[in-house]
Amino acid sequence: MDLILFGMQGSGKGTVGKALAEKFNTEYFETGAVLRRLANQDSELGQKVKSIIEAGHLVSNEVVMEIVEDFMKNTEENKAIIFDGIPRSVEQAKTLNALLDKYDRDYKAVLLKIVEETALKRLTTRKICKDCKEVYPAYYKKEECEKCGGELFTRADDNPTAIKTRLKAFKKETIPAMEIYKDKLIEIDGEPSIDEVRKIAYKTLAPIMET
Ligand SMILES: [Zn+2]
Repeated sequence: MDLILFGMQGSGKGTVGKALAEKFNTEYFETGAVLRRLANQDSELGQKVKSIIEAGHLVSNEVVMEIVEDFMKNTEENKAIIFDGIPRSVEQAKTLNALLDKYDRDYKAVLLKIVEETALKRLTTRKICKDCKEVYPAYYKKEECEKCGGELFTRADDNPTAIKTRLKAFKKETIPAMEIYKDKLIEIDGEPSIDEVRKIAYKTLAPIMET
């Protein structure tokens, strides 16, 4: 069963998503990471992505979907995929669904639900490693990265005004895309601590992921 993850910035979507991929032994599709990986490959698609990125252009919806299709084709049979950060718009949702149908993939959507106030609180206080880009919540008190020892800093665009702009884009573009999945949507409370949310997510999704 593939999962399409939705969640406002600050919902813990990336952290929980990666934990789910590990727990249920699935592939993980996160657009940015897949693009970076492809750009380092010699394949035709890889070189195309590389030239777009080097020219400083945004990767078009069409190319993103070409990448999703390539990813699906290269996924082992019987292995599920968790999608993080896609679809971001109604247009992407429609193309993604067409691909899921084409490759006969079964899927559910998952929403990590938080209120805007929580998103603001979490994002304005989080810290990021300057080397490996790992993200740490406010309660992480150490000055250096647990993974690589890098220095932690607060992102300049993690200020309330910039965050509100990002949340507005989420509401305008992504919420309508999520509506398309309303019959397949599983809601998970994203308000508790990340460890708690992870536990709730395991428990909620185990029945459909461990079959
Ligand atoms: Zn680090």
